[in-house]
Amino acid sequence: MNSSDFPILKEKIYNSDLVYLDNAATTQKPQVVIDAISYAYSHFNANVHRGVHHLSQLATKHHENARKKVGDFLGTDNPSEIIFTKGTTDSINLLAFSLGEEFIKTGDEIVVSALEHHSNIVPWQMLCKRKQARLKVIPLKTDLSIDIDAFKSLLTEKTKIVSIAHVSNVLGIINPIEEIIRIAHSRGILVCVDAAQSAPHLPINVKSIDCDFLAFSAHKIYGPTGVGVLYGKQELLSKIPPYQGGGEMISHVSFDHTTYNELPYKFEAGTPDFIGSFALAKALDYLQEIGVEKVKNHEAELIDYAQAELKKIEGVIIYALSLPKAGVISFNIKDQHPYDVGMLLDQQGVAVRTGHHCAEPLIDLLCVPGTIRLSVALYNSKEDIDKFVSALKKALLLLRK
Ligand code: PLP
Repeated sequence: MNSSDFPILKEKIYNSDLVYLDNAATTQKPQVVIDAISYAYSHFNANVHRGVHHLSQLATKHHENARKKVGDFLGTDNPSEIIFTKGTTDSINLLAFSLGEEFIKTGDEIVVSALEHHSNIVPWQMLCKRKQARLKVIPLKTDLSIDIDAFKSLLTEKTKIVSIAHVSNVLGIINPIEEIIRIAHSRGILVCVDAAQSAPHLPINVKSIDCDFLAFSAHKIYGPTGVGVLYGKQELLSKIPPYQGGGEMISHVSFDHTTYNELPYKFEAGTPDFIGSFALAKALDYLQEIGVEKVKNHEAELIDYAQAELKKIEGVIIYALSLPKAGVISFNIKDQHPYDVGMLLDQQGVAVRTGHHCAEPLIDLLCVPGTIRLSVALYNSKEDIDKFVSALKKALLLLRK
């Protein structure tokens, strides 16, 4: 599907065609996004907001249109609910700080799951340390799905926020976030969704799932690096204090007293990445023109196909084999270190990721040194999977000699 739109896919790696299957780490960029960055610097580079001159107003218009585009992509028509950040990590740090300042006190509880990325663990841990609060972890069942009964019994009147990945970056499992949000809300608990691995693969509507906050990264959804998004319900964002101080986030400053800007600028201290937001909007346009539903189905087919092909190889252990997945498969080969397999795949032009995938607690739970992770994007094809499988077989012939 549309691989010719992505110039990097024509690169040769050690004289082999590139087979890029590390999309969960970052996706490649279509020419329209690459061109957008060049166009922005060539035609409207000027600092946004405050400027009276034409270029500044043009840059501001593009930046604010990008905010509307992101809102439209996530299903909110209120651009004040869209905060531009540097990425998912930045979004969650912002939230953990600002929410923590207003809502978390000694003895309160914050809940995450056992399969989170470090970005959705450490900011909450830091908050717990700051406020003498407690981090609680939803366990997984033996099939590695979220244990909903255990989740319910973790919640107490002290639980203030649940923060959970929509899709696991290690296992690809799609978590039942609507159910989790319903359960949490029925007890007055807020929910943040880490959508870093779902936004590129699944349709998301923040209003219909009713999450309180949601974060994703542009670079994982065909957009540029250094840009991310935090969605938050307006009534909540307006109650919590700013994260960082500086230009843009103020309405008036004196040495005695400073007042803060309105939403969403209150959370956007300093010059925003207005080139990046423009390019992100182009990436979302690109994805939506193809159709998120079509991409979802295409990738689901690739995941099913890859799992079926992997199952035929002796010694392959696929994690969470029977669970619904989006974009990602993690596996190991009996008696082989994932790193050795990854290296030998790389030598044949196949890019996968090996290691703990920034989710050490989950890797510890699996009792392995790491996994081999294959992750797909809209431009991958069955042919890519075939090349990967054939490279894997060659690697195993070498390793098992
Ligand atoms: N959350 C999940 C589930 C991820 O997969 C990642 C990145 O891999 C992140 C958060 C962090 O994203 P970023 O590094 O773009 O901030």
